[in-house]
Amino acid sequence: MTGIDRVGIGTDLHRLAPGRRLVLGHVAVEYELGAVGHSDGDVVLHAIIDALAGAASLPDIGEMFPDTDPTYKDADSAVLLTRTLRTVETHGYEVVNVDVTIHAERPKLGPHKAAIRDEVARLMALPTPRVSIKAKTNEGLDAVGRGEAIACTAIAGLKHRC
Ligand code: MG
Repeated sequence: MTGIDRVGIGTDLHRLAPGRRLVLGHVAVEYELGAVGHSDGDVVLHAIIDALAGAASLPDIGEMFPDTDPTYKDADSAVLLTRTLRTVETHGYEVVNVDVTIHAERPKLGPHKAAIRDEVARLMALPTPRVSIKAKTNEGLDAVGRGEAIACTAIAGLKHRC
């Protein structure tokens, strides 16, 4: 097993509203509500970006890609992830694994987890076994539990490039 030199954690939350797309890990999920955000509101990729940033001691996602910058209006978060990965590599690291938990009361994400995992692995150029996508409800509690928001927690492991 490959060793890990650094770990980082990232979280994200977006409000849900009608008239927006719900994009999770770059996968469009059919649902009556979508994530409100300056970019595409992809909580999965945003949490992964912050986990990578944390592991490599980079500025956080808000600092790297400010929502005051019109460049990032409706931005495809896959582009932001790719840029972050490039920066991580520039700093001498490669990604060992990412582990993700999506917190959502609705829609039910069980049928989408495999597609999200495959897509995150593809975007990160990682073998699928190095990517984990989990999903859970919030037991009806708080904004996530009331279905008003969707949230994500991610952790990333990095190792020094040889
Ligand atoms: Mg976000």
